[in-house]
Amino acid sequence: MIYDAIIIGAGPAGLTAAIYLLRANKKVLVLEKETIGGQISSSPLVENYPGYLSISGSELTGNMFDQVLNLGGEVEIEEVIKIIENEVITEDNTYKTKTIIVATGCKPRVLGIDNEENLIGNGIHFCVACDGAFYKDKKVAVIGGGNSAVINAISLSDYCTEVILIQNLDHLTAEQNLIDTLNKKNNVKIILNGKVVSYIGEDALEGFILKNNEEIIVDGLFLSIGQVPNSDFIKEFLDIKNNYIDSDDCLTKYPNVFVAGDVRTKEIRQLTTATSDGTTCAIKAIDYLNNFS
Ligand SMILES: Cc1cc2nc3c(=O)[nH]c(=O)nc-3n(C[C@H](O)[C@H](O)[C@H](O)COP(=O)(O)OP(=O)(O)OC[C@H]3O[C@@H](n4cnc5c(N)ncnc54)[C@H](O)[C@@H]3O)c2cc1C
Repeated sequence: MIYDAIIIGAGPAGLTAAIYLLRANKKVLVLEKETIGGQISSSPLVENYPGYLSISGSELTGNMFDQVLNLGGEVEIEEVIKIIENEVITEDNTYKTKTIIVATGCKPRVLGIDNEENLIGNGIHFCVACDGAFYKDKKVAVIGGGNSAVINAISLSDYCTEVILIQNLDHLTAEQNLIDTLNKKNNVKIILNGKVVSYIGEDALEGFILKNNEEIIVDGLFLSIGQVPNSDFIKEFLDIKNNYIDSDDCLTKYPNVFVAGDVRTKEIRQLTTATSDGTTCAIKAIDYLNNFS
């Protein structure tokens, strides 16, 4: 059996690509290594996806998944470990396909501290644009000292009572103009040389402890210490730039391999840009299938 398209990753980008390909009557297999729905599944509330006033991440992507199943898409829970030409290889299987869409997304860098996984979505967040509003009039912390951490702290300071920025170095690494703006905020406290060593709270975050034993109680915490693209498995096959798959307009150096969503080089990583990429990849793959295969 040869598939028309194999989609690697069942996040919003991959599921959107599957919907378009299936509606064009293509034979599609989606391979997902762990969570149908991708990163957003851990978010309790999405309020910036058009068409929904508010919806949980799991319900939103659950709807996308239902669309894929209703259209006859095949989905397997298997981690792709390698791609060779027209073959997609997992631990247990080698699948043959005419086109491939890589939509493996990113995972946020985490601190790797006990109980962190359980608290993500329950007090620990990554995306201020998405989840910051839940902490209006509350006290929050931001971990990190680069541009994104400082931008997050500035934006949270507009509606939170207090923002504590914790940086593990003795200085912030963000651009000076951002630091200047931050310094003008009177509800932001900056802790340098601060290292979070443990979290307080079992099922919901209550605070954290620093390496100097200082206990800090907060309502929410935003980790802004970078992202890790899920691109390791494909490094030998596709071009990689700063760990992201290098791609202009979802194209790669192979005419039948496309890349969608957060895993590719791009400026804005959001749900709408991921689903947009999924659409672009699928239409380009359909074009390839109709003209060259
Ligand atoms: C907590 C949180 C809240 C957010 N809130 C919002 C929000 O409110 N609004 C918004 O617009 N954006 C939000 N975002 C960002 C948004 O989730 C991402 O932009 C979006 O999920 C990217 O979609 P994607 O399909 O490219 O990747 P992902 O969602 O990361 O999906 C990629 C999928 O590929 C799978 N995968 C990875 N490697 C392999 C492999 N080797 N084999 C098989 N499968 C693999 C992964 O398991 C994952 O399921 C949020 C992100 C987080 C973490």
